[in-house]
Amino acid sequence: MQIESASFDQLAEWEKELSSHYERIRQHELNLDITRGKPSTEQLNLSDKLDGILCNDYRAAGGTDTRNYGGLIGLTSARELGADMLQVPTEEVIAAGNSSLTLMYHAVLTGYLFGFAGNTPWRELKAPKFLCPVPGYDRHFSICAQLGIGMVSIPMNDQGPNMDLVEKYIREDNEIIGIWCVPKYSNPSGITYSDETVERLAQLGQIANPGFRIFWDNAYAVHDLGHYVSLASIRAATLENDTVDSVLQFASTSKVSHAGAGVAFVSASSANLQSLQQQMQTMTIGPDKVNQLRHSRFFTEFTTLKEHMRKHANILKPKFDCVLEHLHNGLAEMDLGQWEKPQGGYFVSFNTRKGCAKAVVKLAAEAGVKLTPAGATFPYGKDPEDSNIRIAPSFPPLEELDTAMSVFVLCVKLASVRQKLEQQRKAG
Ligand code: PMP
Repeated sequence: MQIESASFDQLAEWEKELSSHYERIRQHELNLDITRGKPSTEQLNLSDKLDGILCNDYRAAGGTDTRNYGGLIGLTSARELGADMLQVPTEEVIAAGNSSLTLMYHAVLTGYLFGFAGNTPWRELKAPKFLCPVPGYDRHFSICAQLGIGMVSIPMNDQGPNMDLVEKYIREDNEIIGIWCVPKYSNPSGITYSDETVERLAQLGQIANPGFRIFWDNAYAVHDLGHYVSLASIRAATLENDTVDSVLQFASTSKVSHAGAGVAFVSASSANLQSLQQQMQTMTIGPDKVNQLRHSRFFTEFTTLKEHMRKHANILKPKFDCVLEHLHNGLAEMDLGQWEKPQGGYFVSFNTRKGCAKAVVKLAAEAGVKLTPAGATFPYGKDPEDSNIRIAPSFPPLEELDTAMSVFVLCVKLASVRQKLEQQRKAG
């Protein structure tokens, strides 16, 4: 049925059926969670050989005793791993602690307090702002919110952020000092930026404030679900456009090995790396090199890592298929929402009819299915259309996901029909 063409009586009848189905489900007192993009236990098990892999041999190539202090930029072998993941030269990589989010936070602080590569610190500007492609990753937005950096939403399309708008804002406002990008299998839309988008982003350094930085968070660089999608090299594009200082790239093994105990990487021009190191050396004597060594022994070659990612994909793919099947079977013939079919990453992004997302999340919660709060994918937690919901299929076992998705589809229908009925009532 199409909700737009349904009569009041048809809607009322439909609402009755859906409500009674919903009440039956509520009796089951479910307790399911599809909120955060965490790897499942089965995925984490894939990397358990990390533990014990060193067999008391703590010496890295070159003789470094990894148990001791030092080595601010990380072990060469770990930097090589980061270089492979980001497809950049090893000299341009720092291998750090367990979290790329920490590195990003640190990089924003560096720009804010001290400025990159001799540029004005952002805190000295009247109203420094980041461009935030939406829907996006809530933790990026929280960093800006905490530091009082303004945020300007930029809608995503199937090529990446709307570049006409990005360029327009940058031309009009010299206090735009950053943009958040998740260029491959974007969180949450699953989109990979097109070559043209990468090229246009690389040109921004020619028109932006010299302190402007692209935060290229390549968190899903190697997280294909089967079919490989390629991403153009932002490094190569900035080299051609003479804008190498405008980009900071990030990645980690969080969703490759153990999510809380991996290795994170940042890659940038030497001027940017110097700025980062200046601050890092005050914060730490060096990263956890023992863990870095474990990772380089576990992933001896980049091909080993890619093979490992295929095992992740074998676990993840059926879960994505489950989500997409429920959406297709339950909603494809209707005008109740749109969704993406990602080829990798960790999420499926779903857009309800305008003004329904909060209601769907609430109905689902009351039926025992926890979803990411509506609005979380927008700066300040406010989705102006109240429509985006991020579905994270990775963590729950398949059977639980299956149940959670039937509840989700039911809640989408119920919230949409109730909203339409209310609109028709008001219109008399
Ligand atoms: N960036 C994105 C886009 C993510 O989705 C995540 C994990 N949800 C992270 C960064 C966090 O990465 P890390 O574990 O390396 O801090």
